[in-house]
Amino acid sequence: MSSNQQNQDQEQQRAPSPTNQSTNTHENGDTSTSRSDQDEWKQRPPYQIHRSSDSFHAVWNGKCHCGKTRYQLSRDKPLAAKYCHCTTCQRLHGSPFQWAAIFHKTDINFTHGHHDLAWYDPSECTTRHKLPCKVSCAYCRTPIMDEGRNMILLFPTLIEGINSKEGREAFKPECHMFYSRRVVDIKDGVPKWDGINEESKRMDEDGNIIEDEHKKEGGEHEQKRQKT
Ligand SMILES: [Zn+2]
Ligand SMILES: [Zn+2]
Repeated sequence: MSSNQQNQDQEQQRAPSPTNQSTNTHENGDTSTSRSDQDEWKQRPPYQIHRSSDSFHAVWNGKCHCGKTRYQLSRDKPLAAKYCHCTTCQRLHGSPFQWAAIFHKTDINFTHGHHDLAWYDPSECTTRHKLPCKVSCAYCRTPIMDEGRNMILLFPTLIEGINSKEGREAFKPECHMFYSRRVVDIKDGVPKWDGINEESKRMDEDGNIIEDEHKKEGGEHEQKRQKT
């Protein structure tokens, strides 16, 4: 998505060696003895495996289509959920738009850690782990999340019970982003933006820019809210 592209400039310091690029996602067990520093991220959130002694309480469970990738979430609901209609999301998901739920990296526990996962960096079209990047199941290729520098954007359709009243309520989107690039009109009453949320112009459900006056009001309201 486009927020990824915006962040890429700040992420170019780390230049992994060629060995890091061919991530063996089918390896089993821990080969930590010869791990280079560049693989250290595999032991950190969101890939760090929580132990039973950790104070991690699973609220939601998720899995990919083939079931090799499984995870738990410790938070009742995401910090926010959004629909993104940008072209990158449409293409990478093979769907009209992306549904993403924002969580802290420590909110998720992949039961096999980094194993059976694959990464893709849409800004450079490489399959190495370079933030921000796309994360999918290495076997069935189910898209799992976008990993940003500080947060993860999880795709809620993998979550068990997401198609229940409780699930729909908890993961309800607060807005549509990049609505100007939509392939389908969505008349759901949820706020719509031309680009990334408040940084862009508000749109109506037919894709017309809403008058500046409305945006100004919204902007002022937002500023007041942030000051408090
Ligand atoms: Zn997008
Ligand atoms: Zn899978």
